[in-house]
Amino acid sequence: MNLDDCRRLDAEDPLAALRAQFHLPEGVIYLDGNSLGVLPRAAPARIAEVVAREWGDGLIRSWNTAGWFDLPQRLGDKLARLIGAAPGEVVCTDSTSINLYKVLFAALSQVLQASPARRVVLSERSNFPTDLYIAESLCRERGFTLRLIEADELPAALNDEVAVLMLTHVNYRTGAMHDMKAVTAAAHAVGALTVWDLAHSAGAVPVALNDSQADFAIGCGYKYLNGGPGAPAFAWVHTRHAGQFMQPLSGWWGHAAPFEFTPHYRPAPGVARYLCGTQPIIALAALECGLDTVLAAADFDGERGAMAALRQKSLALTDAFIALVEQRLPGRFQLVTPRDPARRGSQVCLALQDGGPGAYAIVQALIARGVIGDFRAGDSQMPDILRFGFTPLYLGFEDVWGAVEHLVQVMETDEWKRPEFNQKLAVT
Ligand SMILES: *Cc1c(COP(=O)(O)O)cnc(C)c1O
Repeated sequence: MNLDDCRRLDAEDPLAALRAQFHLPEGVIYLDGNSLGVLPRAAPARIAEVVAREWGDGLIRSWNTAGWFDLPQRLGDKLARLIGAAPGEVVCTDSTSINLYKVLFAALSQVLQASPARRVVLSERSNFPTDLYIAESLCRERGFTLRLIEADELPAALNDEVAVLMLTHVNYRTGAMHDMKAVTAAAHAVGALTVWDLAHSAGAVPVALNDSQADFAIGCGYKYLNGGPGAPAFAWVHTRHAGQFMQPLSGWWGHAAPFEFTPHYRPAPGVARYLCGTQPIIALAALECGLDTVLAAADFDGERGAMAALRQKSLALTDAFIALVEQRLPGRFQLVTPRDPARRGSQVCLALQDGGPGAYAIVQALIARGVIGDFRAGDSQMPDILRFGFTPLYLGFEDVWGAVEHLVQVMETDEWKRPEFNQKLAVT
């Protein structure tokens, strides 16, 4: 594969026009949309409008007149199309961490009622830390044990002690993807409920929550959904639980009739009870701009849904990146992400072949050249990782070529060994 091949693939790419939806700074190849998505061009004007007209002129009237009140549900309905859910099943609200607390609490309450002997929450040791920390404290509070395993110990680790299987669909570090339908079926077969974190899935890979018969799900608004830094996250629950589940953060916004101001809590029917307090309207407005950038892909593959066309391009981009790294830097890197397309998300992770230090400095040297990926530290199980996210909405094949070209130069000149690339910054 060479530069001409990449240019030809771009010229043939039906999704290429979607890039115009974004503000991409000159000279940057952005491979970190799995950490913070790019600014949609529509967002600044929309945010300004919400501030000046809806807040400034409309004032409190805008809760009714500008559609503020049901914004979490309206955005949830838009997002539902991207994750295999139905309208009325999703709300956009709070952060991923907070939503995880709510759904895990709800799942545990449900199990405690139905089969109180089950006392284990099962998850992966390599799950994202906030997921493990939230689960740890909830388990401590509610008398459960958090049991951590490696992905390949599933489904053998599922047994009748397990109350809840809590997994992140696409691993944040390796990019490895679980088969949601098969894993959910295995959990249900032993009587456990499932909680899925879609932080690296929503807007990145096709997700089929209802078809998978999943129980609870949450996910992130600022990664592949381009909702902006700290954007509201989302929560979903299967309709079979929707009328029953207990939401521990029982604020007035999740009450059946918040403006009756009654002294006792009565949960709203369905997913609206996931809401806690007054919602961040400006942030939700920005998130809507991000959601619309992903939904725009549906126009290219309406029948199969927005995600089918994006997935096809995402796999082509990641395939091209892997092929170019192996072709141009043979023996220098090992592929940490599964090679099998069915088992990977929309990112590619590399580790140095020799296992030596340098991953952090190589990422810093690339960033200095405008190729923005990130670094994730290894541990006893896993080497240090160079992580590259590929967002098909705004990346093309020439970007892939450019990123690998810079990586080749950084490696061949030993540029990464410079001292300025070897000082750790607060946010990696
Ligand atoms: C990014 C990410 C989060 C982020 O949680 P916040 O509450 O937004 O900080 C949580 N879980 C996973 C798996 C993630 O990838």
